[in-house]
Amino acid sequence: MASGHTVLMRLVASAYSIAQKAGTIVRRVIAEGDLGIVEKTSPTDLQTKADRLAQMSICSSLARKFPKLTIIGEEDLPSEDVDQELIEDGQWEEILRKPCPAQYSAIKEEDLVVWVDPLDGTKEYTEGLLDNVTVLIGIAYEGKAIAGVINQPYYNYQAGPGAALGRTIWGVLGLGAFGFQLKEVPAGKHIITTTRSHSNKLVTDCVTAMNPDDVLRVGGAGNKIIQLIEGKASAYVFASPGCKKWDTCAPEVILHALGGKLTDVHGNALQYDKEVKHMNSAGVLASLRNHDYYASRVPESVKNALVP
Ligand code: AMP
Ligand code: MG
Ligand code: MG
Repeated sequence: MASGHTVLMRLVASAYSIAQKAGTIVRRVIAEGDLGIVEKTSPTDLQTKADRLAQMSICSSLARKFPKLTIIGEEDLPSEDVDQELIEDGQWEEILRKPCPAQYSAIKEEDLVVWVDPLDGTKEYTEGLLDNVTVLIGIAYEGKAIAGVINQPYYNYQAGPGAALGRTIWGVLGLGAFGFQLKEVPAGKHIITTTRSHSNKLVTDCVTAMNPDDVLRVGGAGNKIIQLIEGKASAYVFASPGCKKWDTCAPEVILHALGGKLTDVHGNALQYDKEVKHMNSAGVLASLRNHDYYASRVPESVKNALVP
């Protein structure tokens, strides 16, 4: 440990700079105008040039610096030499100035699993709903999500000229979450945020059962967690398979670092070890407060349909 910093804090500091670089790639692809859209499993499961380039950038940059990590990225890409122009070598100094939580200080590189969603909210990206998009880098240890970085490349894009475009939110369990202003929905109000592009009867049945005051339908798992921590929504409800571990790992950390909770619809914790299946088959239920209330309202019919 020549630098004097722990492996975990060096990794988070690098992931911050790498996610920022991925954010610039996501913006550049739009600016160049050729999205290169490919359909994966269905017309709502898309991949663009930005998903591909951002993943190559993130995974190669991480692997060069931390060769013993296990890195699992969403996109199935041929492992070929990556253009040097895509490599990010920086680390965010502010993160290195924070103390590593004692329970993580002895973690070795080979003990960590990194879950990468190079572009979360691809469907919305292709439709111009740009602030729905995030870059997600989640870090897991012993099957648990412990650190994460979320870059939102188009944060502020509707604020007009002069407003700084993009931001990066990061967090470590036991240390906190940073890069945004925490705000909560007024107590007693149930504002549910859910999918916009991947809805079905189970999803709507579960949302209705929450007795919501309002329902928001937006793209992206990262984006919906940002709504929870910025007081725009009180629970994220997605009672369906479809979300994967790379969608939930980084967002879960940010929420947990603030005392919130992300589980499946049964209220069970999600696992992030390298052998785990990628699909969150039993859906996602997340909230900053009152998780027990939302879990208690999930209908039995929905629970029976969603086997972990
Ligand atoms: P959404 O809330 O629809 O934006 O979904 C959150 C994340 O889960 C995104 O990365 C989606 O691509 C993914 N996802 C959810 N449902 C599906 C599905 N049926 N097929 C493919 N991806 C899905
Ligand atoms: Mg995603
Ligand atoms: Mg993605």
